[in-house]
Amino acid sequence: MASEKVEVILDALKCQGYGLCLGADDVFELDSVANIAHLKQRFVDISRKDEFEQLVRDCPAAAISLRVLQE
Ligand code: SF4
Repeated sequence: MASEKVEVILDALKCQGYGLCLGADDVFELDSVANIAHLKQRFVDISRKDEFEQLVRDCPAAAISLRVLQE
């Protein structure tokens, strides 16, 4: 049976460095020089979909999007 995972997509051109995504600091880190978020990992377990949908809504710059992938 196919399982799903969530791909986290960060648009570094939109990111304004607000840092609200750092609640998930296993996935996001902030470059303190450029003040732009980076992804530490691109894929998270499907069980975290709600958590990341909230981060998408909370990002003031609309820099985060998600894609659900079949494994
Ligand atoms: S919340 Fe959005 S704007 Fe702020 S650091 Fe994260 S990705 Fe960038």
